This record gives sequence, structure tokens and C-alpha cells, in this order.
Amino acid sequence: MAEFDYDLFVIGAGSGGVRASRVSAAYGAKVAVAEEYKVGGTCVIRGCVPKKMLVYGSHFAEDLHDAARYGWTLGETSFDWPTLRDNVQDDVARLEGLYTNTLDNNKVEIFRERATVSGPNEITLASGRTVTAKTILIATGAWPVVPDVPGAEHGITSNEVFHLETFPKRVVIAGAGYIANEFAGIFHALGSKVTVVNRSDQILRGYDEQIRDRLFQISTAKGIEFLFNVQFDNIEKKADGALTIHFKDHESLDADVLLFAIGRNPHSKGLGLETAGVELDEKGAIKVGDDNRTNIPSIYAVGDVTNRVQLTPVAIREGQAFADTVFGNKPHVVDYDCIPSAVFSNPPMAGVGLTERQAREQYGAVKIFTSDFRPMRNVLAGKAERSLYKLIVHAETDVVLGIHMISPDAPEILQAAAIAVKAKLTKAQFDDTVALHPSMAEELVLMK
Ligand code: FAD
Ligand code: NDP
Repeated sequence: MAEFDYDLFVIGAGSGGVRASRVSAAYGAKVAVAEEYKVGGTCVIRGCVPKKMLVYGSHFAEDLHDAARYGWTLGETSFDWPTLRDNVQDDVARLEGLYTNTLDNNKVEIFRERATVSGPNEITLASGRTVTAKTILIATGAWPVVPDVPGAEHGITSNEVFHLETFPKRVVIAGAGYIANEFAGIFHALGSKVTVVNRSDQILRGYDEQIRDRLFQISTAKGIEFLFNVQFDNIEKKADGALTIHFKDHESLDADVLLFAIGRNPHSKGLGLETAGVELDEKGAIKVGDDNRTNIPSIYAVGDVTNRVQLTPVAIREGQAFADTVFGNKPHVVDYDCIPSAVFSNPPMAGVGLTERQAREQYGAVKIFTSDFRPMRNVLAGKAERSLYKLIVHAETDVVLGIHMISPDAPEILQAAAIAVKAKLTKAQFDDTVALHPSMAEELVLMK
């Protein structure tokens, strides 16, 4: 008889957990995964994917407006939130089915219930059943932070935003990071009055200052309002369902929806980790080594619950590295250098490598090249909105240390450009590359 019920038990069928489960099973391991909500995890079910669909939906607002300048006569147009919401959810259900099929096809057993750790090799399921596994992988992701203020329960998080019953006329968004700027763009384009409220005096900490300043200028010009250095006091729900949001040292705001987008904490509470003796850091993140192993040799963790880089492609790589190392006899570690990222704001921003500030701190002398241009599409549409591309170059070696941009299609362009930064190509090699004309991307090889 086998010593354990499973070779691997994974808690959480999200980006990291699904990859680790299916690859480990393909290597011949007997694998089970527990999922308490929906197979696919945050990215597929209530993150990247439905968010991007809402971004596409919201772009039609400006496109329909611009169409007239391109000679189109359109009849009366109107936007219907339930149609967009339900079509997005239909596609999410389709994707959930595909992810489930992938696990089934790889003979991964799925437990559709919550699981907790009850020992170094033991898992307890919500049904009360316990199972054993030689190796346990925790891939439970992260959970939105809700502030500790009276009435916070009247606000929503990104978990609920995809399911709104009615489209809100007035939206207040707490936070000024990824989710705040993406949903500010979506709600504003679709017709809401949007106010972004942050505790500090900036948006998108960590992004290149010039690029985020440009997003701030464009967002403000479009009509999105920002309040900085503001703290919440309490939230009041009125008889008609509307909210009044009271701040410390600032006048109150009325809103139909209050969206908390103030970060996501590692989802490690109540998992029984203390029972097994797994060490957490001060933010509740599971501490792991380069090989994703915790201080307990039979327990590993990948993805957002380890709070390294909260991005889907990173969780997937960590899941893959875990499976290759533990079950595939191909040990390797994830390379965290030059991870490209994007904010799907309107317009989107994207970046890879060092920001100007980081490069100056690290290397002292750097050369900065910028291209500040009005995309051809905007010129004909009569829009003043300008794009900004920026190259950060090592002064001595000419190596391109970072690329940062805000522009329509910036994420699409940056993915290809990230290869050049990862490969440590020089500015001279960018200059040697013939431009592809007419495109916005050609600006990358034309900066003087
Ligand atoms: P998750 O995908 O969160 O999966 C964890 C799973 O574990 C969940 O399904 C959860 O239900 C389950 N679970 C938790 N506890 C238990 C338990 N005890 N028992 C059973 N199951 C459990 N990243 C990008 O790269 N690009 C984007 O554009 C992007 N957009 C985003 C937009 C939003 C609104 C949000 C919230 C996130 C976005 N992200 C984006 C981040 C991305 O979704 C995460 O980094 C990624 O999903 C992390 O993968 P994971 O495997 O660590 O966890
Ligand atoms: P972010 O970390 O991007 O932004 C958090 C914002 O909330 C910041 O403006 C921060 O202010 C503020 N904040 C942080 N803590 C508090 C607090 N305790 N009280 C009040 N305000 C606070 O978090 P998001 O929630 O927007 O997104 C979570 C993560 O999900 C992102 O970091 C990202 O990794 C991932 N994600 C990725 C996306 C993508 O790739 N396109 C899209 C959406 C999410 P300040 O820093 O100014 O002090």
C-alpha cells in the first residue's frame, strides 16, 4: 500500500496551482487539487481576463466618438452594462470549463471545496475528510485588503466589481495602483463620474515617474478626479442605497459604488499553517527559498501567497519550476530579472527593467531618450492626447536598462521590446534596426 494518498496535493486552482498540478501529473505524479471557488483562480475568474474584456468594452466609447472624424455616420448609440457583464461572465464560465478539462485530461483529481493544512503531510477538507500527501503545494493567491473603518462593508472589492447589478453613475475608488487606474479608465469611459482617492500624493508607486505623470495628466484631462493625502473616516449607507463617504480633513463624497483597490494581501490566514509550523513573514506571506520550499521540507508555496511579484506569468513560472524540480528531475529556479508589466489604464502604460530613478541610484550616469508624440490615430481623430516612450541607457556600456511607455497598444509593443532589454541589447543595436513605418512602435528605434 502507498505511504500517502497522493504524491502531491495542491491547495488553490489558480495560475500557479493549475500549472503545478497538470505538469506534475504529466510527469507521472498522483495529484489532487482543492479549489474553494472556481477553477482558474483570480486571473481567469475575477482578474486579468474579465478586466481586459471590460477594457475592450470601454474603448468603444471613444472609438465610436472618433468614428465620425473617419467619415462614419452612426445612428444613436447606447451602452448596456448587463449585456457586457453577462457576456464577460459567459466567457469566464467557458474558460473555467477549459481549465477543468485540462486538469481532468491530466488525471488531476479536483476537490471543489476549501482545504487546510493539518500536518506536514496531511490536508483537511471542508467536508471533514482528511487526506495525506508526500508533498503539499500552497497556491492560495492573495485577497483584497479592506480598510478597518466604520461602514467599510458598504464598499466592494475587485471580487464583486464584475457582478454589479446596475451601472453606477458615481464611483469612488480607494487606492491609486493597478486596479484603481484600470477601473477608473473603465468606469469613466462607460459614463461614470470617477473619483480616485489615495493615502499618498502619487499614483502607481514604483512606475517611472514621467510615465505615471503622463497618465495622471491624461486621466485628469478626461475628467477623472483625484484626491491625494486623504484618509477614510467612515462610510454611511443612505435609505436609497447611495453612499456618503466621509474623510478625515476633506469634505465628504456621495457615491453609488465605493471600490477598495488598496492592495492584495497573501491569502494565508486560517490555512492551518501554524499547525504544520510553516513560517510566514510580517505581511502573512509564506516564506520560501529559491526552490519554492518552505521551512517544512514537505510543504512548498508558489504565486501571490508568497508575495514576490503578484503577476500571473510569475505565478505560472513558479508553478512550472516547482513541478520540473520536484517531479520532473529538471531542477531550475525562476529568473525575476526584467519582468515586463502593464497597467491597462486608458491609455495603457507598460514597462520593463529599471526606471530612471532606479537606474540613477544603481549606476549614477545614465542617458535618457524620450519620444513624446501624438499618435497618427489621435491626430486624425482631433484628440490632443500624446504618447510618451522612454529608454534608459547605461552611459558607459550603452546597454538599454529599461523601457517605459504610455501609449495605445503599449503592452503589445513592450512584450517584444522586453526581449531586447532581457538580452541586454545596446542603444546602438536599437538604432541599427530599421523602423517599421508607419507604426507607433518605430519610435523605439528612432530616439535621438
Ligand atoms: P490565484 O490565481 O489567486 O489562485 C488562488 C486560488 O486558490 C483561488 O482560486 C482561490 O479560490 C483558491 N483558494 C484560496 N484558498 C483556498 C483554500 N483554503 N482551499 C481551496 N482553495 C483555495 N496579473 C497580471 O499578470 N496581469 C493582469 O492584467 C492582472 N490583472 C488583475 C486584475 C485584478 C482585478 C486582480 C485582482 C488581479 C490581477 N492580476 C493580474 C494578478 C493575478 O490575477 C495574480 O497575480 C494571479 O492570479 C496569482 O496567481 P496565484 O496562483 O498565486 O493565485
Ligand atoms: P497596488 O499595490 O497596485 O496599489 C495599492 C494602492 O493602494 C496604492 O495606491 C497604495 O498607496 C494604496 N494603499 C496600499 N495600502 C493601503 C492602505 N492600507 N490603506 C490605504 N491605501 C493603501 O494594489 P492593487 O490593489 O491595485 O492591485 C494588487 C496587485 O494585483 C498589484 O500590485 C498587481 O501586482 C496585481 N494586479 C496587476 C495588474 C496588471 O498586471 N495589469 C492589474 C491589477 C492587479 P501608495 O502606494 O501610494 O502609498
